[in-house]
Amino acid sequence: MTMDSETLVDYARSLDCIHCGLCLDTCPTYQLTGRESSSPRGRIHLMRAVAEDRIEANADFAEEMDFCLVCRHCESVCPAGVEFGAMMEFTRDALATRARPGPLARLARWLGFRVVLPSRRWLRLTVTLLGLAQRTGALRIAAPLLGLRGRMLASFPRVPSRAERTPLPASTPAQGPARESAAVLEGCVMPELYGRVNRATVRSLAAAGVESRCAPDHVCCGALHAHNGDLAGARTLARGTIAAFDALVDDSGAPLPIVVNSAGCGAHMKEYGRLLADDPEWRERAAAFGARTRDFAEFLAEPERRERLTAALREAADSAPTRPTTYDDPCHLCHGQGIRSEPRALLDCIPGVELLELEDAESCCGSAGIYSLLRPQDSQDVLDSKLAALRASGAEVLVTANPGCQLQWESGIRRAAMDVEVVHLAEVVARAIDGSGD
Ligand code: SF4
Ligand code: SF4
Repeated sequence: MTMDSETLVDYARSLDCIHCGLCLDTCPTYQLTGRESSSPRGRIHLMRAVAEDRIEANADFAEEMDFCLVCRHCESVCPAGVEFGAMMEFTRDALATRARPGPLARLARWLGFRVVLPSRRWLRLTVTLLGLAQRTGALRIAAPLLGLRGRMLASFPRVPSRAERTPLPASTPAQGPARESAAVLEGCVMPELYGRVNRATVRSLAAAGVESRCAPDHVCCGALHAHNGDLAGARTLARGTIAAFDALVDDSGAPLPIVVNSAGCGAHMKEYGRLLADDPEWRERAAAFGARTRDFAEFLAEPERRERLTAALREAADSAPTRPTTYDDPCHLCHGQGIRSEPRALLDCIPGVELLELEDAESCCGSAGIYSLLRPQDSQDVLDSKLAALRASGAEVLVTANPGCQLQWESGIRRAAMDVEVVHLAEVVARAIDGSGD
């Protein structure tokens, strides 16, 4: 093993794989190609071969690493506890460090990860310009010049109206007597694309007797950086996130629990301890931060809160939603955080919701952070079988718990001309509380 190959892959973790092959059928890229090299076991085999200097980390190797959605479905079925997501983050970061992309690709990456995502002002400007280009048709006209193909264009999120894109207040009081307070992650793109989901989140928490507080000036948790080969950027943003949220304390001075309505961000934030394990100054704070991070459904499904929420929902029972509804498990919620029953338990609390199970609800929808923008064809191919399952379910409402999945489903449903509404779990809860039906 040479020094170079040793730093390219997480060799120690790769040795956990016992080659049983139980993960193969769960892997969306293996399902598409039937190739061993596009499967979890195949990718681990390639990583080991690179580490042992049996093959070079050439373009074919990089392609198989890029093709992976990092959905972590393979982790859920692995009897050996292989930490595939962590291995892939390591390898992508190493490949990105060694890659020599052209100046335009370098500029786009730097602008996206280092300038726009960590800055509220830049995010707002970028999304405003995108919305303007969409409304005037300029994006469609400029697409060929920018190298944007039809499928990539279709994957772009639709920018909501300016009125929709309002940030959360610093504090949202509980409805009735406040029983507790929680810090809420507002997120980077959430306020721009799904401000309504953030508002529904704090509305739902308020009904459960929880005061919500936002960390002033916090923007990005770094999940997209970690998943796309920028671990240095992810670590910087993790430190900033910890500092911002550690400053939010209750009356006794204890830091607040952190509620996250984006499965990808929540999974990443819970793993800050691993991300900063080599940083003696931050590792303990990072581990404590991860331990008090909760997904929205996980937090509200805890017995006392669920009881308070159920009481609030009961009052609004007359105008409860009645459309057939299904729930699709975001990968970073079910595979990344092991949260499966809690969202269903919350939906069960809502009078009138007829919950239909979606076939293969735990398989990836193809969103995978910015995968749908970088590899639109693969992303849509992965979604196709999910769209067929949705059609077969007969549901008229699809519930998710992650903004990337919400965008992916919305764009796929539009493309397939289906009449299904896509909503975040928090929106279903908040609508039921406010008696606005479904
Ligand atoms: S993370 Fe998902 S796409 Fe990648 S190897 Fe595992 S199952 Fe396949
Ligand atoms: S299930 Fe786990 S141990 Fe078995 S082949 Fe897949 S990654 Fe390796």
